[in-house]
Amino acid sequence: MAQKKSNGRHSTKSNGKTHPGAGKGNTQLEKFFHDSLKDIYWAEKHLVKALGKMQKAATTNELKSAIEDHIGQTEGHVERLEQVFDLFGKKPQAKKCEAMEGLTKEGESMVEETEEGSMTRDAGIILAAQKVEHYEIATYGTLRQLAVTMGQDQIAEILSQTLEEEKQTDEGLTQIAEHNINWEAEQETVEEEQ
Ligand code: FE
Ligand code: FE
Repeated sequence: MAQKKSNGRHSTKSNGKTHPGAGKGNTQLEKFFHDSLKDIYWAEKHLVKALGKMQKAATTNELKSAIEDHIGQTEGHVERLEQVFDLFGKKPQAKKCEAMEGLTKEGESMVEETEEGSMTRDAGIILAAQKVEHYEIATYGTLRQLAVTMGQDQIAEILSQTLEEEKQTDEGLTQIAEHNINWEAEQETVEEEQ
């Protein structure tokens, strides 16, 4: 019996369901998925730079090293997205993500508005970084689910790996904040304005 050759790129079956339009890039969902990939690809590339700035501005070594670890992971997220584009039969392409630009600008103003060397600055950077992680968690959670729906199991698996790292980062930041930064920030007084 002649079997249709499959390169594994365009799985058209998942959970016993068939996906007649899948893999041809011609369903509305595929177009939406592709556009969303371009968006998060821009965001991840942008984050490599933006996290670098936050890392330099941070006060404690604990926060600096947590951000540094996540910069390494973020570079991996960029590479994973390149694999996803490839599996989806598309060239990696970035499209400016206004939301991520806004979130990282907020991170920059946290730094500008807090004193260098203060714990309050770290509390602010953690808040900004967690907003970024939550945006990523929402994005990867949705894209992973859409990949499952389209029968793109390999893509779903890759997106799950990144999703897991974003969740761990978010939890790690919460722990750093709760262990001492928030408490110490609370002890910092505002210098009286002249
Ligand atoms: Fe990421
Ligand atoms: Fe992240």
